[in-house]
Amino acid sequence: MIRFFTVFSLIFLLACSVRAEPPLLFLHGSPYQGELMYGYATPGSTVRLNGEKLSARKDGWFLFGIGRDDKGTLTLSVEKGKAKIRKVLRIKPRKWRIQKVNGLPQNTVTPNEEEQKRIEGENKLVEEARKKKVRRSVPLCFSVPAKGRISSVYGSQRIINGVPGGQHNALDIAAKTGTVIRAPADGVVLLAHEDMLLTGKTVLMAHGNDLTTSYIHMSKILVKEGQKLKKGDKIGLIGMTGRANGPHLHWTVMWKDKRVDPQAFLRNSAAFCSASAKPAKKAKKAKAAVKKSVKKAAAPKAQETPKTPDEKADKEKTPAIKTDKKEKAAPEAAKKKTEETAKEAEAPKDKPSAPIAEKENKK
Ligand SMILES: [Zn+2]
Repeated sequence: MIRFFTVFSLIFLLACSVRAEPPLLFLHGSPYQGELMYGYATPGSTVRLNGEKLSARKDGWFLFGIGRDDKGTLTLSVEKGKAKIRKVLRIKPRKWRIQKVNGLPQNTVTPNEEEQKRIEGENKLVEEARKKKVRRSVPLCFSVPAKGRISSVYGSQRIINGVPGGQHNALDIAAKTGTVIRAPADGVVLLAHEDMLLTGKTVLMAHGNDLTTSYIHMSKILVKEGQKLKKGDKIGLIGMTGRANGPHLHWTVMWKDKRVDPQAFLRNSAAFCSASAKPAKKAKKAKAAVKKSVKKAAAPKAQETPKTPDEKADKEKTPAIKTDKKEKAAPEAAKKKTEETAKEAEAPKDKPSAPIAEKENKK
């Protein structure tokens, strides 16, 4: 009997050591074009997107962006030791708005040779700045950087001064010149440039894990290169420097070299942060109750859902962006010159979603 038990135990132990525990993979968000997805993988595992290694936070959370024109599928893989899981996401298409923009300074639309050179040089500066290595853990809770009217959404196909132009892969928030722009989350200033031909007074911020944001057309810059900013710190003031026909903030959110939809990101971030705040609050209450009452009571069990450590940020609610078209709030110039035509950009509807647990285990 003893021998049988020993053999059985040995087999059991052997089985345990051979069969590696599969890592976890959670996703938050829907894989629409322009989306910034949230992911969670067991800390210490290697996460790859289409074979390329992703930079994740120590606690396992990571972000990845989908470009406006990306199509097909994305393959996420998570490896921990010998165990591996894989998840294939099909990119969901969106429809984009067509927008007529008139009254822009003509030299910014059809620059001469000299101006073209200047633009190229300035683009290089931004590119170089974006490459700077930043050792930061990306915050997960972002807020809107300025209060105002949404004058242009992400993804629109533009007709500039009557000629088909590029895409608008950013969000425009129109408000009076001098309106304060604040850091939507902690980060460091990569670039602060006083005069760029197209973007005017320009600030570029890095938040960590390949996420950057930029602030364009400002009337005043209130930060310096290399400065560390906390969420809510002043970056500058709204203006209309560079290629602009009215005072507004042109806000870009980038993951690696992909420009993502800032509005979709803010919605996703708000849903993510309010959802993760609940279990955290519950845990705090439970812990306090345990302390107060019986000392011998067992401590509450660990959270089942991974939670974000951005507890401070959780408390601050993301201010809603005003999307109403109150003429009073709109600056005259922008109102006259920016005509928005065509249909509303089709916004993703099945979001935000609850984290999806991946249970596939492909050894
Ligand atoms: Zn813009």
